[in-house]
Amino acid sequence: MEQEFKLLIDGQAVAGASSFDVVNPATGRAFASCPKADITQLNQAVAAARAAFRSWSATSFEDRANMVECLAAALEERAAEFASLLTTEQGKPLDQAIGEVIGCTYVLRAFCSMEPQTKVLRNEAGNQVIEHRTPLGVVAAITPWNFPLVLLMNKMGPALVTGNTMVVKPAPTTPLTTLLFGEICQAVLPAGVVNIICDQNDLGAELTAHPDIAKIAFTGSTATGKKVMASAAAMVKRVTLELGGNDAAIVLDDVDPKVAARKIYDGAMTNAGQICVAIKRAYVPSSIYDDFCEEIARIASEAIVDDGAKQGTTVGPVQNKMQFDKVCALIEDAKQRGRIIAGGAPLDREGFFIPPTIVRDLPEDAPLVREEQFGPVLPVLKYDDVDDVVARANDSEFGLGGTIWGKDVSRATDIAKRIDTGTVWVNQHLAIDPTIPFRGSKQSGFGGELGEAGLEEYTQAHIINAVALA
Ligand code: NAD
Repeated sequence: MEQEFKLLIDGQAVAGASSFDVVNPATGRAFASCPKADITQLNQAVAAARAAFRSWSATSFEDRANMVECLAAALEERAAEFASLLTTEQGKPLDQAIGEVIGCTYVLRAFCSMEPQTKVLRNEAGNQVIEHRTPLGVVAAITPWNFPLVLLMNKMGPALVTGNTMVVKPAPTTPLTTLLFGEICQAVLPAGVVNIICDQNDLGAELTAHPDIAKIAFTGSTATGKKVMASAAAMVKRVTLELGGNDAAIVLDDVDPKVAARKIYDGAMTNAGQICVAIKRAYVPSSIYDDFCEEIARIASEAIVDDGAKQGTTVGPVQNKMQFDKVCALIEDAKQRGRIIAGGAPLDREGFFIPPTIVRDLPEDAPLVREEQFGPVLPVLKYDDVDDVVARANDSEFGLGGTIWGKDVSRATDIAKRIDTGTVWVNQHLAIDPTIPFRGSKQSGFGGELGEAGLEEYTQAHIINAVALA
């Protein structure tokens, strides 16, 4: 029998006002039905979160952290079930899905030990100034389809431990693991602390505009992020935007091209390239360009592209048809302007499969270089001069991440300082850690997640400045 999923509103698992199909990207066919909320249910979810805020925010940090730890423990216990559903709705290979689920438990637990600190700013005779951190109220958490669970935990961990309540809205093509997590929330948390509603891209705007939402924590595309920011402006709501990227990897001339090719392949093709901080452009010096291209094309051609549920699969399908069509169009255009040395055409089978595709000799103004591909295709570009390559890497509206690959770590680090992005890794990629702040620059985002800086985004600085009466 088909598994049944419910919304979570005020501690109750409820049916949607209607429903829609969720497609398995490995088959292109519907495999489950998702409840769809209407505007009445959205209002009920916000009202429940608002009502729960008073008592939840009054509990101690320790009590809230204990409950977040219970969420992590319950998820850990059901990790295999969550990973299997994640693969079916999202497409990623099962080992990567297990990695995402276990990653969620690390994120939740990391926030359990991050208590916002009260700071004594002045403590003089007759004048004491103290900064407290207070919760904001109801947080709307809006997530995309590439990492539906862990990107939710990046928001839920800090929001809950600091005393906020939540209304969660997952992406319409990957709503089910979030709804399954609702079962855990229902069992562990007081009613109304976390509410989950689903839509078909029609309730996000209503949710962000709702007057009782205090903060919007959004991860998704830059285009939607701009709408969210505009909507937040009307009531000066707090907003965190984690948006798109076009991360450059710069290979320096002292590296072994074989070693760099393997690492850059992994940084570009994990989750079929659907990672905000995936490597989306690789810049390689002329002296090792041919060797690098040959090696990365060889690695790409060895990928096992199949249903993520099959053992041994290394690259699953692209998550949805719209993204599949977009990536196919970028590849078609790249064929006209550069040379495909691996992949290059979707697989002739059901589902949204594109084999890892490597393109060399593209001009800098090709759409595949300028735009965010968000799929399993990587342009490899040639350079001769470090100043020139730094300028090319920085010539982007995005500023999310990037990497420098070099044997001489201090030289690579000096070049990293010149890259205009929120994070630059040296000799590693995708090294995201819940205790290290993560944020985009330029049009990749506003505000940040993770680390103590990310925690503070869910609080208001509240200053008490007291003097003695004369
Ligand atoms: P998207 O912007 O299409 O959708 C994201 C979410 O916003 C979905 O839940 C969607 O239903 C909702 N939404 C749609 N219209 C809305 C509106 N008007 N108001 C509020 N919410 C609305 O993004 P996507 O295609 O699901 O995700 C892919 C994008 O996400 C890529 O650009 C990727 O780089 C980015 N991303 C960024 C990060 C990061 O941390 N910076 C992480 C993962 C993904």
